[in-house]
Amino acid sequence: MNHTASRALTTPAALADAGLLAADDVPGLTAVAARYAIGVTPALVELSLMHPAVARQFVPSDAELLVRPGERADPIGDEAYAPVKGIVHRYPDRLLLMPTLSCAVYCRFCFRRETVGDAGVLSPAEMDAALAYIAATPEVWEVILTGGDPLTLSARRLGNILAALDAIPHVKVIRIHTRVPVAAPERIDAALIATLSALSKPVYMSIHCNHAAELTAAMRAACARLADAGIPLLAQSVLLHGVNDNVEALEALFRGLVEARVRPYYLHQLDLAPGTGHFRVPVEEGQRLAAALRGRLSGIALPTYILDIPGGAGKVPIGAAFLSPEGDGSFLVRDPHGDIHSYPPTEIS
Ligand SMILES: *Cc1c(COP(=O)(O)O)cnc(C)c1O
Ligand code: SF4
Repeated sequence: MNHTASRALTTPAALADAGLLAADDVPGLTAVAARYAIGVTPALVELSLMHPAVARQFVPSDAELLVRPGERADPIGDEAYAPVKGIVHRYPDRLLLMPTLSCAVYCRFCFRRETVGDAGVLSPAEMDAALAYIAATPEVWEVILTGGDPLTLSARRLGNILAALDAIPHVKVIRIHTRVPVAAPERIDAALIATLSALSKPVYMSIHCNHAAELTAAMRAACARLADAGIPLLAQSVLLHGVNDNVEALEALFRGLVEARVRPYYLHQLDLAPGTGHFRVPVEEGQRLAAALRGRLSGIALPTYILDIPGGAGKVPIGAAFLSPEGDGSFLVRDPHGDIHSYPPTEIS
């Protein structure tokens, strides 16, 4: 186990000792703790004590045992697209490689909550098989390291995996999906930067971040170290009830990310993982929020509102439609204030 995870609080009793739960609530959370991994790093204990919107993401609740209609253990159909252990290959040009299912923190709304946890590390033989699959599949242009969180691996272990990918000629781009800059910014250290900088291929990093309060000085400094090393930074956020489901919270989040040199990429509709209903925002409300942001935020601060279709059919944008066809080749266009304009048919010469 890595040093960050070993310092994280992993039981309801420890969270109560830290002041994040009432002692009375601890017995009622035994069943939740038995079913789903818990982990709150020192950085996030501190933030959670100050910000309810942060605490809500990491402190377990008995609502997690309530499974709503439509919720399922494998919400986005990872299993159906796993040719070998540790790989999900759904789109021809890119695939997910999951070297570990450990995370620095465990989000209570996690889409892979039935699989993440400290036990899920690929063995050396399994990693060799996964890399062999990528090497033997020439249409794979991009490899996305995810999990779990790939940055919970040691710099040496991560470096070995990245070097192996770097050596596969048809892999042109490597992407890392991580929550570590938020959960344990001190892990974005010189050893990690050196490991990423040693590669010949571009490495993009997509940071999971849901609330402006997560953009601490330490987190922004970690982003600056990455950006200074030439690593393009993206952010993925999840639309979460009680965390960021209002225009002001989303605006502050996306502005703060851009100010930290991070480009908001996706705003995810929450996947239908079991026991996450208390976090879900209706799609109509998400569309209303996305449309409201369009009128008030710089384009570089606006992510795409995205749905991963349950079962594994892929991701599609689900923002409100601004354009509606009139049938005669013309369109009606709604502007960000709600006023309607017409757009003429396109003459093909
Ligand atoms: C989300 C996902 C990707 C990445 O999709 P992008 O739209 O390129 O960010 C790739 N493969 C799988 C299986 C995914 O679930
Ligand atoms: S960091 Fe990502 S994979 Fe890990 S618990 Fe949070 S949402 Fe799940």
